[in-house]
Amino acid sequence: MFEALYIEKTAEGAQHVALRTLPDEALPQGDVTVRVLWSSLNYKDALAITGRGPVVRAWPMVPGVDAAGIVEQTTSPAFQVGQTVVLNGCGAGELHWGGYAQRLRVPADWLVSLPAGLDAFQAMALGTAGFTAMLCVMALEREGVRPSDGPVLVTGATGGVGSVAVMLLARLGYEVVAVTGRLEEQPYLQSLGAHEALPRALFEAPLRPLEKARWAGAVDVAGGHVLAAVCAGMRPQGVVTACGLAGGMDFPATVAPFILRGVTLVGIDSVMCPRPLRQTAWQRLAELVDLKRLAGLSRTVPLAAVPQAAEDLLESRLKGRIVVEIP
Ligand code: NDP
Repeated sequence: MFEALYIEKTAEGAQHVALRTLPDEALPQGDVTVRVLWSSLNYKDALAITGRGPVVRAWPMVPGVDAAGIVEQTTSPAFQVGQTVVLNGCGAGELHWGGYAQRLRVPADWLVSLPAGLDAFQAMALGTAGFTAMLCVMALEREGVRPSDGPVLVTGATGGVGSVAVMLLARLGYEVVAVTGRLEEQPYLQSLGAHEALPRALFEAPLRPLEKARWAGAVDVAGGHVLAAVCAGMRPQGVVTACGLAGGMDFPATVAPFILRGVTLVGIDSVMCPRPLRQTAWQRLAELVDLKRLAGLSRTVPLAAVPQAAEDLLESRLKGRIVVEIP
């Protein structure tokens, strides 16, 4: 038997979330069974748990897009019993039971062996948010953005993706400008390595198709008007990585930045990220992350507190990363 957070659809079509004790036989198909030690709370998990976004696509569901734990059983030669592994994305918590459980079972190729330098707790302090921040940074590097090219903008900077992106970019020597709806968090952002913080409102006002060319690169978690404004303010040949929709799904922009300044817009998807890139991103995280700063941006909640934390996250009452302690 194992304990899990469990989401069911009621007869009226609403959803009901509760801790449940389930039999091992209820676990889905897969070749590796993992004893989960830690999970984490991401924006997508909060949408799933509150039902505010169509994240869950199979019912009933054990949510949680992330997990780190120890292999308990395996029919795959790729892993050994006792090995520490990480799961993020791949449909966990959406289509396949995920990380908010003492035990999970998945196909072996969804798992990554924990790289040296990170333990299971630290891996979940990063989680999907940190992994996505790393994918954004790697995309900026791949597209040729160098620290000497100019400042790099990070939107939603106090959130999970934003906080880790600020930390990684600063570590790599970029001048990081943080955009936030909570300017009072400027000391927090500076503690992660941000050079300065700008109010989000500057990016929400109606703008011209091209604004003053200021940014060499950008990591955007907001979408909507903010993403459009970010694109309008890019320097020639600047690169914008778009990974989120915290401000909206739309993209009310013009083509001006792309055809008049050669700006590149790169989409980032952590869920179906190919396995070699997944392994490289975790390895880079292990090499780059400042463990003291990571500890400073993360907070732990017990599994039973996840539904309340999900509400808080969607209301921007949290900052940094939330690690979930599995009993
Ligand atoms: P968090 O809730 O931790 O952070 C989101 C941050 O966005 C908030 O802290 C806030 O930062 C900012 N924000 C909140 N509301 C708005 C708004 N209306 N307009 C603009 N900014 C806003 O979430 P995560 O960091 O976990 O995720 C951020 C986004 O990235 C989400 O949309 C998520 O779905 C997406 N994502 C996408 C992935 C992918 O694979 N593409 C993977 C992981 C996340 P502040 O107060 O500092 O402005």
